[in-house]
Amino acid sequence: MTDVQTADEVLLARVQAAPETGRAIPDAATGELLGYAPEHAVADVDTAVARTKAAQLSWEERGHESRGALLLVAADAVEANAEALARLLSREQGKPLNGPNARFEVDACVTWLREAATAVLEPQTIVDDGADYAELTYRALGVVAAIGPWNWPILVAIWQIAPSLRMGNTVVIKPSEYTPLSVLALVDILNEVLPADVLVPVVSGDREVGARLASHPGIAKVMFTGSTATGRKVVEASAANLARLTLELGGNDAGIVLPDADPAAIAEGLFWGAFINTGQTCAALKRLYVHESIYEAVIDALAKVAGQMPMGHGLDEGNVLGPLQNEKQFHIVKRLVDDAIARGGRVIVGGEPAPELGANFFRTTIIADLTDGVPLVDEEQFGPVLPVIRYTDVEDAIASANRLDTGLGGSVWSSDRAAARAVAARLRAGTVWINSHGTVHPKVPFGGVKSSGYGLEFGVEGLKSVAEPRIVNG
Ligand code: NAD
Repeated sequence: MTDVQTADEVLLARVQAAPETGRAIPDAATGELLGYAPEHAVADVDTAVARTKAAQLSWEERGHESRGALLLVAADAVEANAEALARLLSREQGKPLNGPNARFEVDACVTWLREAATAVLEPQTIVDDGADYAELTYRALGVVAAIGPWNWPILVAIWQIAPSLRMGNTVVIKPSEYTPLSVLALVDILNEVLPADVLVPVVSGDREVGARLASHPGIAKVMFTGSTATGRKVVEASAANLARLTLELGGNDAGIVLPDADPAAIAEGLFWGAFINTGQTCAALKRLYVHESIYEAVIDALAKVAGQMPMGHGLDEGNVLGPLQNEKQFHIVKRLVDDAIARGGRVIVGGEPAPELGANFFRTTIIADLTDGVPLVDEEQFGPVLPVIRYTDVEDAIASANRLDTGLGGSVWSSDRAAARAVAARLRAGTVWINSHGTVHPKVPFGGVKSSGYGLEFGVEGLKSVAEPRIVNG
């Protein structure tokens, strides 16, 4: 064992439960035992909410400067544990260390923590005309519930935790049952720095804990990232406590390649737009519309890039693509691909599982000659698969991009920025990128429209979303 492997094992030992009481969590790539996650019951939610509620006022009263300073120390602590955390994340989630994957995710945690620690939310003077004076200020809401998915487990956790803590809220965090250990390790590192009970994790073997948390009378706000189906349940649950909601839900982002784009120049951007985290990314490019004049050239260029991207176990430094995180997701991907092929889709690369790599591996897959209405186009595949659709008239491509109920992201690819912006302005999505897809920035607000959710995260808008607005009038 190397020193780095030891650090990774030490981190795991800090958070895992005894085998008799814990739930076995596999290595996503091999299926071998990784560790045991603690199991919490619904009653533990009540204890966690009570603890965080009791700690909230003194945390709020510390003020912004003190909380920001502590969050900066917490960011340093994450940075000091970066490699161990990346290795644990890689084994549990499956994403390779390299590429836009595990090390990238840990680095981003540090970046977003520092941004949340230092962003400035000034009071806003609304009216000051001599006769009237009104000012808009923001204060903490209380206890925030942070409920997260398994695809970017620690980064989503930081997106929920960091602004909430900065604004003076305390947080109960519930990681996905598929990836609890890396989130628990992150929380443990943050809690080396934070005061007791400001950030409390609860983990579940089933989904009851999430449901109880979303409806708990002690919760003021739910930050939820996950599927649209579960998001709807969170909305229903929030009727009980009138909790404020930020919902970051599923997407089925379209990309439109205009006829003047240079296929070779955009191919790598298109590839990573679609295959980041082996396609298991909310705002990944999930259906690509390409003008008929460059259709084959774009497909050829994409296939060439795909051939240069090794897939395999995440701890192997050579890999940049990994397995599906879990068996359920593997079967969703396989069903959609089998169906697309049966309907006449032309397999450019992949099209089948890669059993020699492990049970949950599916080859990087590009399928051409599909149309709207095929489930692989219309549903969120959430795996290493990209359907490519031919269009003749850009009006049709815009209509196709907008026709689904999701609206997280979209992209336009062109050598003419003005032409791309004109198309971008007509896409109904929370973010539209030009000549890239899915890139996020800690100061730039991010959120979905339609059934991809509502509310904004990141930067100053993100701080407002975990705060209570108050007008001081007079
Ligand atoms: P999921 O909805 O199955 O689970 C998300 C979380 O909700 C888990 O922690 C789960 O335990 C919890 N949960 C389950 N039932 C609950 C209930 N009744 N009440 C409250 N919580 C409950 O989602 P997933 O499969 O883990 O994640 C994949 C999905 O997340 C994809 O659709 C993806 O697009 C989406 N996602 C969106 C974003 C975004 O920013 N919009 C980011 C990442 C993932």
